Amino acid sequence: MSTDTEKAQRSGLHQAERLRLLSSTERDLIRLANEPGFRRWLEQIKSIGGCAHPIYLAGRTTTRDAITGEVLRHYDTSEEPGGRMPLRCRNRRETRCEPCSRLHSGDTFHLVRSGLLGGKGVSERVQLHPRLFVTLTAPSFGAVHRASGPEGAVCRPRRDGGSCEHGRPLSCGLTHADTDPAIGQPLCPDCYDYVGHALWHASAGSLWNRFCHTLRRHLATAAGITQTRLREHLTLSFAKVAEYQKRGAVHFHAVVRLDGPDGPSSPPPIWATSDMLAGAVRSAATAVEVHTPYSPATGERVIRWGEQLDVHPIRSEAFGGSTAVTDNAVAAYVSKYVSKSVGESGGLDYRITTYDGIELAPVTPHFRALMSVCWRLGGLPELSDLNLRAWTHTLGFRGHVLTKSRQYSTTYGELRAARVEHRQDSDSTLDIETAVTDSAWRYVGSGHSQAEFEIAAGIAEDLAALREIRREIRQERRSGH
Ligand SMILES: [Zn+2]
Ligand SMILES: [Zn+2]
Ligand SMILES: [Zn+2]
Repeated sequence: MSTDTEKAQRSGLHQAERLRLLSSTERDLIRLANEPGFRRWLEQIKSIGGCAHPIYLAGRTTTRDAITGEVLRHYDTSEEPGGRMPLRCRNRRETRCEPCSRLHSGDTFHLVRSGLLGGKGVSERVQLHPRLFVTLTAPSFGAVHRASGPEGAVCRPRRDGGSCEHGRPLSCGLTHADTDPAIGQPLCPDCYDYVGHALWHASAGSLWNRFCHTLRRHLATAAGITQTRLREHLTLSFAKVAEYQKRGAVHFHAVVRLDGPDGPSSPPPIWATSDMLAGAVRSAATAVEVHTPYSPATGERVIRWGEQLDVHPIRSEAFGGSTAVTDNAVAAYVSKYVSKSVGESGGLDYRITTYDGIELAPVTPHFRALMSVCWRLGGLPELSDLNLRAWTHTLGFRGHVLTKSRQYSTTYGELRAARVEHRQDSDSTLDIETAVTDSAWRYVGSGHSQAEFEIAAGIAEDLAALREIRREIRQERRSGH
């Protein structure tokens, strides 16, 4: 309970005393806000969306008319706060930089969406082509605890056998809430096939490539033509993302599309239907396998897809697709995964360089066991091609999060270039044909101080709120309110 006297005493505290009581971050905030370039710095951070880990550059750029020598535009960071200019970190991971990861997710959404609906330089005809949303999974490497889901299902209901050879129960009668850390952990770590899991991850990229090859072969067989002739009739395009499951195994979600021989702008032959493609995807997924190199420690393992295989035709929203999987829903679903990393499923998003690094890593015993196996197998010369040590932190999987075939749609680079062009459209000096630009830049640092970080996070939040409001307004307009 505070009395008036106490209040008076407190307000009477000497300025220096009050400053002493502030945290170092608060003191830093006050210092920052009193600096002469503070307003300009705020503007800069706003222009990079409140990036959490900006890259700072110093330098200059001058645009002149090559004929008259007239300076059309000049920019020099010596006029900026601290003599430097921040750039976005462009990290795709939400845990590293939320605003940049959101931008990256947005780009992924457009990249996947344009392959489904057209736009961004892709023909709108693709909406009429056979398109599937396919999920390919890893097989089981041993029983793990499962989330109970909306039905409140029991984790591993009791069967006949009571316990494994290590004396651990083969069943689990619990219902695990979604947030239960037990989910994805094996019932018995000694029964779990860690070697199989690590080798599967290390071979998943080859398995996917082999799958695409087999899919073309099965399409040719279904059409009654040779594989070499297939190219004269159609092209197969795809975009896929890798998603880590709780058990630490990746799944692939892919959009698979059939075009005519000249890509998106040409129609596929009449016999190339969505059903035919689905049949070929199923048979190819079942048939395909790769073999790991032989090692006395592991033998030769056969790598195959798991039994769980989902194949859905994608309906065009433009044609009133409502019940089935629609193109917009698929683009949103796929783009969600690129901002996730193995770090968020309990792994690490930094590289491991020593075995001690595994012991010290803040991961579950399950992931630690998997990392140890990756490290151990990575030291075997006969498995060196699998590069397991370098990819210990990703549990042996060394693929990109998003991969796509050349013909699928646009690229991240093109989307970025379009953004820059859009910004520069307002700059009339660039319309002069004889303009030449001369630039010199150097890296001078990165990241924020604690106080700068807080401010940038506030800016990022404001920008996100603004986007949300704009989205709501757009939706209201669309629904005619
Ligand atoms: Zn960033
Ligand atoms: Zn359980
Ligand atoms: Zn066991």
